[in-house]
Amino acid sequence: METRLFIHGDFFDAAGGARFADIEPATEREIARVASASAADIDRAVVAAREAFDRGPWPRMTAEARGKILGRFADGIERRARELGTLEARDVGKPLSECINHDVARAARNIRFFAAAAETWTQEAAQSDAKFLGRDLRLMNVTTRPPIGVGVIIIPWNSPIMLATWNLGPCLAAGNTCVMKPSELAPLSSIALGAIANEAGVPPGVLNIVPGLGEAGAALVANPQVDAIAFTGGIATGRRVMAAAAESLKRVTLELGGKSPNLVFADADLRLAAAGVARSIYRSQGQSCVAGSRLLVDERIAEDLIAALKREIAKLKVGDPLADGTEYGPLISAAHRERVHRFVAEAVASGAKLIAGGEARKSPAVGFYYAPTILDHVDSKSKAAHEEIFGPVLTIERFASEADAIEQANATRYGLAAYLWSTNIDRALRVAEQIKTGMVWVNSFFLRDLRTPFGGAKLSGLGRQGGRYALEFWTEPKLICLAYGAEDHDG
Ligand code: NDP
Repeated sequence: METRLFIHGDFFDAAGGARFADIEPATEREIARVASASAADIDRAVVAAREAFDRGPWPRMTAEARGKILGRFADGIERRARELGTLEARDVGKPLSECINHDVARAARNIRFFAAAAETWTQEAAQSDAKFLGRDLRLMNVTTRPPIGVGVIIIPWNSPIMLATWNLGPCLAAGNTCVMKPSELAPLSSIALGAIANEAGVPPGVLNIVPGLGEAGAALVANPQVDAIAFTGGIATGRRVMAAAAESLKRVTLELGGKSPNLVFADADLRLAAAGVARSIYRSQGQSCVAGSRLLVDERIAEDLIAALKREIAKLKVGDPLADGTEYGPLISAAHRERVHRFVAEAVASGAKLIAGGEARKSPAVGFYYAPTILDHVDSKSKAAHEEIFGPVLTIERFASEADAIEQANATRYGLAAYLWSTNIDRALRVAEQIKTGMVWVNSFFLRDLRTPFGGAKLSGLGRQGGRYALEFWTEPKLICLAYGAEDHDG
């Protein structure tokens, strides 16, 4: 397993030899000591990316030529699906089958999709008339889309390989070079991408990977040689990133947290809704930006739905992420489990009713497990009601009418996603239009078409990823205006 920094196509120890411990959530044991990038390492990585952009072949290749290399990169990810999936399962605590069949499969698809998207992206041209120095002219205004330069990609720990490639895909396909920093809590699958990029023929310096602590991220975003930053993480860090980027006016896109509602109407297919709500909050143990952490339910069906949710929890196969059939693993760290529990304990102390969970799991005995939790009657002033918990905690609110449901759904600072469960298409579309989130799913959870915009409104983020939205972010629209005579004066 590689644990060093990847700079200019080679693996290095950090300057000064600093390393941090990487703990496996299911065993609570150290699985690796990972090189921790210092400010000097960050500078070196940015210089490598700068040099590769300013003088290297990558930005000067056609999208087709880059696409061939990225295709081999995606093949390499697929060939190592089991190895990468196992690294991810051990590092993050997600079930192995989900890591292999979803996250790693999506990682390869992310790279392939954006290579194809860049290759099939056509540029715009506009024609107009003008007069210049007494001559009648026609203008052919061509908008080209050169890459923006050196990109910084900062990702969190909850879905590292998926989020790394979701950002690397458009960044590299558009012709940029980059420095990527994974989270110190789950850096292994990101580091493994370095060797795969080398085998695929990605030129040295195009992709640099610098595991490190938060300070490494801060040094990266402050570096004046960086042109654009794609940050995925929490709101507080997102604010710091944006403030640092303002200094040298770097382009920034932020994918932040959520407090996404599940709205279940009385006309919903109750079994589908219960299974969907459970999946939306307990998949990845709730450590997902799009987790459906708030249940808003028509008061007439609330008790039936709660009973169905309890049955869904009872069915969940909790256990070792590496074991066959496991659906629910541990949280990322002891500190995170404590944080999740503080939300629950505070809500219960201020009157919430615990319907399920609310404590560390007794079995398995080792690992940062926390039981799937449901809280009812949560005081609207308690933190559990309005802050992102990023854990397996579902809060319940009841509504009496459609208007009431919409008002409650929108009564949050976040605006990432919403899930509507209804068999009435008129209602579903009417409500979807009025929910202030970047994404709304009707009778489903988080199904993705990679061409569509991904991102949040309000405090959930800035900008959109996915399809052409990501390619637009990673390119600099440039006008080339060609003037030519409107009439033939030469006979
Ligand atoms: P953090 O914001 O704590 O960290 C995200 C990344 O930023 C990490 O790599 C971290 O490094 C790095 N970092 C920390 N401080 C700085 C700094 N000052 N400047 C630059 N980078 C810095 O988030 P978490 O890792 O705890 O991830 C959870 C959050 O991510 C949740 O809020 C979740 O909702 C959000 N998220 C959003 C998604 C979306 O697409 N909208 C998708 C997935 C998650 P280190 O960890 O080493 O400190």
